[in-house]
Amino acid sequence: MNDQALSTVDAGLALAAFGPDGLLPAVIQQWDTGEVLMLGWMNEEALRRTLTEGRVTFWSRSRQEYWRKGDTSGHGQYVKTAALDCDADTLLVRVDQVGAACHTGTRTCFDGRGISVTTGTRPAEAAPAAS
Ligand SMILES: [Zn+2]
Repeated sequence: MNDQALSTVDAGLALAAFGPDGLLPAVIQQWDTGEVLMLGWMNEEALRRTLTEGRVTFWSRSRQEYWRKGDTSGHGQYVKTAALDCDADTLLVRVDQVGAACHTGTRTCFDGRGISVTTGTRPAEAAPAAS
C-alpha cells in the first residue's frame, strides 16, 4: 500500500466516532445480495486492520482480544467497501462472506430468529391537488 492510500485510511479512522468504550458497531453485509450478515464491534486498531488488510477484524468484548473473522472457522469476510453512517458512529462493511457468517452455522446471525411484531402499513399517498 502506498503513502497516499495509507493517508486515506488515516482520514477514515479520524472520521470514525468511537463510543465511550472505544468501540464502534460494525454492520456486516453481503456486497452483492444485500444480506445483513451480522454485527460486530471494532476498536480503532480493528478498524485499521479491516481497512488495510482486505479481511474483517473485530474486537471481542467477551474475550478482550482481536478476532479476524474466518481464522478459526474458515468463514472469512473479504472486504469490498466500508462506509460510516451520518453520525460516523456506526460502520457498514460490505463483504464477500465465505460460508456461514454466524458461529452457529447459519448464513446470517438473523436466519430463523424472527420474533413477533405488529406490522404497519404506510399511509395512502395523498391525491395530487387539482390545478
Ligand atoms: Zn451469529
